[in-house]
Amino acid sequence: MRQNLLRADNKLLNYPIREVVTIGKQLEKLGNLNMIWENIGDPITAGESVPDWIKEIVRENATTDQAFAYTDTRGYLPARQYILENFSNEKICTVDDILFFNGLGEAINKVINNLPREARILVPSPTYPSHATAEAMHAGCSFISYKLDPENNWEPNLEEIENKVKYNDHVVAILVINPNNPTGRVFNRETLESIVKIAKDHDCFLIFDEIYHAMTFDGVENTLLHEIIGDVPGISMKGISKDVPWPGSRCGWIEVYNAEKDAQFQDFIRMILLAKMLEVCSTTLPQMILPHLYDAPEFKVSIRARIEKYQRRAKQAVEYFNTFPQLRVTMPGGVFYLVVELLDLPRSKLSATTKASRLFIDKLLSEKEVAEDFQFSYELMASEGVCVVPLSGFGSNLNGFRMTLLQEDDEVFTNTLEKIGNAVSAYYAK
Ligand code: PLP
Repeated sequence: MRQNLLRADNKLLNYPIREVVTIGKQLEKLGNLNMIWENIGDPITAGESVPDWIKEIVRENATTDQAFAYTDTRGYLPARQYILENFSNEKICTVDDILFFNGLGEAINKVINNLPREARILVPSPTYPSHATAEAMHAGCSFISYKLDPENNWEPNLEEIENKVKYNDHVVAILVINPNNPTGRVFNRETLESIVKIAKDHDCFLIFDEIYHAMTFDGVENTLLHEIIGDVPGISMKGISKDVPWPGSRCGWIEVYNAEKDAQFQDFIRMILLAKMLEVCSTTLPQMILPHLYDAPEFKVSIRARIEKYQRRAKQAVEYFNTFPQLRVTMPGGVFYLVVELLDLPRSKLSATTKASRLFIDKLLSEKEVAEDFQFSYELMASEGVCVVPLSGFGSNLNGFRMTLLQEDDEVFTNTLEKIGNAVSAYYAK
């Protein structure tokens, strides 16, 4: 090529939740394995079937001519109206402050990429990698983060947040993922109010990724951003991917709060809208369907049953992993993931099912240095056929992994835990 086609910061671009699959697919083939895919938050991959009532709503709407048309750049008006009335707060948000995207993943990128390079977002660590990667790519250097503490039920240290905001005036926003992916933590109201106060005191805005807002376990209360934000500008991010088993709908949205309270913030939101205009709009069909999904009498029953299953799975997994001194786990308050820390993780090997997969991993490890927990995850795949995401892939310097609680089949889930347990015992024994 006449010019270099690769950006200088290309190494910052990664998404471990899917990248680990490429290696897993190779190991599945080379090792004659049926891999158990524990890497991705997709209920369908984990065997959940899509209920007939959802399929019926999709079928009905898919046959209307409207579903084939473009819609508003902001999104289909009745859907935005529905969100305003049912999820948002009319005191601080209008129907024009709600913008639809093709999945929340797109919204995350649009929001972050439309900030000037030097304007930074403080993200949690561990974090959902799309936020961290988008932040790093937009800034052209590593993302900046505040820690969630596994020894304190994944609570953030408020003093750390305050200091990072106070002493770095490039920080323009604080990101909170609540309920949290990957840790499953549902933050209490006081913690969230303190973060709002830090943003207010230092003239920053807030981004709350609330895509799991409906996914809290029995007895766990969730506080939404719009309940506590007061007059601070902010963005709540939500979507349908987790509320109904239809992540392939690619349908997410942002609710902008207090847009008119700050002229610069308002201009920034206008930029996001203009950027979306270049693409015309997001896919019409899922937006048309959205109110019908949430209003269906089956919706509440179905989401309750799913959450009960995830809570049962979480309890079983926490009890099981707690029997291993090498592991640390905390019972999540919601969401469908579990983070398992691998304490004092050595570099070790496990017996791979075939010579070819052993050679493949050895080659991978010799080509580039990988984090300790990535090595563990390769060995786990090659020996037991379970694909998890290394915790360091979530922008964390802790070793561990994230698995899901989605598995539909009780026996497969128990078996998966045991496979991981066997790998842990053997890995630390060497
Ligand atoms: N935010 C968080 C915290 C997530 O876990 C996910 C997906 O797993 C997303 C955003 C992206 O969701 P979507 O499927 O709407 O792109």
